[in-house]
Amino acid sequence: MMTTTSTIPFDIERIRADFPILDQEINGRKLVYFDNAATTQKPIPVIEALMNYYRGYNANIHRGIHTLAEKATADFEASRRAVRDFLNAPSAEEIIFTSGTTMSINLVAQTYGRHFLKEGDEIIISGLEHHSNIVPWQMLAGEKGLTIRAIPVLENGELDLYTFEGMLSERTKIVAVNHASNSLGTVNPVKEIIAKAHAAGAVVLIDGAQASSHLDIDVQDLDADFYALSAHKIYGPTGLGVLYGKRALLEAMPPYMGGGEMIKEVTFEKTTYNDLPYKFEAGTPNIADVVALKAAIDYITKIGKPNIAAYEHQLLQYATEQIGQMDGIRLIGQAKEKISVLSFVLEGVHHQDIGIILDQQGIAVRTGHHCTQPVMDRFCILGTTRASFAMYNTMEEIDKLVAGLQRVKKLMA
Ligand code: PMP
Repeated sequence: MMTTTSTIPFDIERIRADFPILDQEINGRKLVYFDNAATTQKPIPVIEALMNYYRGYNANIHRGIHTLAEKATADFEASRRAVRDFLNAPSAEEIIFTSGTTMSINLVAQTYGRHFLKEGDEIIISGLEHHSNIVPWQMLAGEKGLTIRAIPVLENGELDLYTFEGMLSERTKIVAVNHASNSLGTVNPVKEIIAKAHAAGAVVLIDGAQASSHLDIDVQDLDADFYALSAHKIYGPTGLGVLYGKRALLEAMPPYMGGGEMIKEVTFEKTTYNDLPYKFEAGTPNIADVVALKAAIDYITKIGKPNIAAYEHQLLQYATEQIGQMDGIRLIGQAKEKISVLSFVLEGVHHQDIGIILDQQGIAVRTGHHCTQPVMDRFCILGTTRASFAMYNTMEEIDKLVAGLQRVKKLMA
């Protein structure tokens, strides 16, 4: 088994030391955390940013003129600029803070979708979508008489782009697909998908929940109309997300929620709405978590996304080789381009049993349908065991997973 660390493009021990949660025992064994696609752990600078905010300058933003309010506002807006740079968005006004990818997608469905789509229009999603990029469109479609169509998934877990082209027509108004699949790891060729959708006159939303911690994102190069992500999947806090939208679209869309902050003037007769991005940020936002998101982005940027991606690729390759060659293992999703997600089934063993036995050995993996039931249906399975890797994982931990799976096989034989 491989234990060399010579090709790691950064100091893995220093990185691990930044994530205090990793240094603990679960069921008497050192924790191996392989549930990073569900949520990533938080480095000390993120935890400290949260603490510093609450200890030092908690105040409501934008409205106050006292010193604490000004500092809180400055840090909140600095984080918005950090997100702009992270996505290479043209301007900070096109960055809207939400509660997560789920809210970002619902916002687009309920504002752009509700306002601009009419009966008979079509929305194209894909067979690889998370439920949060299916259900919001279904809710809208049910109300407005829209049709939802899904791009089929090929046997290797890639999207069938040939069929996609044939699905596009003048009825297609929205195309909503993920940049990377959370259950199979497939990286979708979103630049190509966007170009084809645009040629048919549709706007495109990209669900970047999984891609954002692994791939360099450039919304201008992609020409994405909307791009959604969650802070907790990029080493930031939970309950916070981002919606990037092109200015012209955001300006044309009605607001999502009404309340304080999103208005210019309110009388009982009429309300005028605030400028971007505040039009979409009603109420007191998640200030502390927004402030801490900048610490997460700074952390990733310092290590460098290409370095992180290169290392995660090594982890994925090694895990794919080691686990793929085990008797009775069927890998689900073998796309040519993948983020570091390995999904598999073990013949004759329920995925929940695998999860429980691995947990007894201190190994945290995800089991089930991963909020992608249509993917499971496509492969005629109930669920998978999913190991997903982050920058702080090691080859030695993958060896432990392999040993853990061997134990599962022995116990369940
Ligand atoms: N899309 C994808 C591809 C995801 O992996 C997830 C989270 N598992 C979501 C959307 C939803 O993200 P959140 O729960 O943070 O809103």
